Amino acid sequence: MTRPTRAVIDLEALSHNATLLRKLAGSRRLMAVVKADAYGHGLVDCARTLSPRVDAFAVAFLDEAVVLRQAGLGDRILVLEGPMDVAEADSFAELGLWPVVHRAEQLSWFEQSPTGTPEGLWLKVDTGLHRLGLEIDTLSELVSRAESMAPVTLMSHLACAGDVDDPLSQTQMRRWQAATERFDLPTSLLNSASSLLADNDESQWLRPGYLFYGGQPDGLGSDLGFRPVMRLTSAVIAVRSIAAGERVGYGGRWLAQRDSRIATLPIGYADGYPRAARDGTPVLVGGHKVPLAGRVSMDMMTVDVTEHPDIQVGAPAQLWGDTPGVDEVATHAGTIGYELTSQVTARVPRWLNTGSEPGGLPHG
Ligand SMILES: *Cc1c(COP(=O)(O)O)cnc(C)c1O
Repeated sequence: MTRPTRAVIDLEALSHNATLLRKLAGSRRLMAVVKADAYGHGLVDCARTLSPRVDAFAVAFLDEAVVLRQAGLGDRILVLEGPMDVAEADSFAELGLWPVVHRAEQLSWFEQSPTGTPEGLWLKVDTGLHRLGLEIDTLSELVSRAESMAPVTLMSHLACAGDVDDPLSQTQMRRWQAATERFDLPTSLLNSASSLLADNDESQWLRPGYLFYGGQPDGLGSDLGFRPVMRLTSAVIAVRSIAAGERVGYGGRWLAQRDSRIATLPIGYADGYPRAARDGTPVLVGGHKVPLAGRVSMDMMTVDVTEHPDIQVGAPAQLWGDTPGVDEVATHAGTIGYELTSQVTARVPRWLNTGSEPGGLPHG
């Protein structure tokens, strides 16, 4: 028998979430952010599922868009960091990609490109995140230069997207308003967390990523019916009884306060389960929510199953999915669910669950 650890990708849940987002978007157009291998869920399979349900995709950089084109996907694709250099700029028109222009120099590359100009240009405005974007006071000149090449869309990105009442969100929204009202151009501001909050946003494009995968950005979305797309699963490969006073795992971090039963799962930080997870992090084993006991090691982890004598070797385990949710696990590890799904490593086989069979099909 092979190691039972796998990431099961539920493409039906992905479609379901897309339908919910479509409703949320109302009359706005819907872009699915599929950067970082669709947040670790598998870029091409997710994009094929989403293609009929969204108006465009967004990826971080050119190579990610090339993967989609090579897989035969003809959708509109926005490249969030735009071209890295003049040579890359030539590929945008060739491959039919929309670049984000966040630096004036990128516009010059397109003006000089021998392959022609892209079909659309998205100008990114720095409203206060201070990561990428054009200065607001340079915008007029750059918009006219861009408009002479292709249709222009304006975009920006919020630093505290989950909290529109945060003073920084208020400042960014004010600057965004001032920057965009001078032009009669389509706009795009909101990602997952903010899309649930800002009913009165007038942007033409909604630009979520995490909600497609059923995550709960900033604790939002739990009651809205989004379903987790990834289930990280394994099974018990050893169970032992230890006496009170014994310690478990590297560093002896977990101390048995009573005579205990410890179950071992063949999944560790080299699979993407976070080493930072603290004792007590919930794991579903044999249908019971049990606590992590001891430090996560490279290939294995241990849980306290003292309360559940029915848990034996072979009992199925779920590291995240519906229970516990990836965001709950992330909280116990001092991070966010985005980091956990996108860091599931290549040695974990992805299994596609297309809806019909619970186990699904292995997928390379
Ligand atoms: C990643 C990203 C998004 C999507 O963010 P989510 O929180 O996953 O919805 C939207 N816009 C930009 C610029 C991004 O980098």
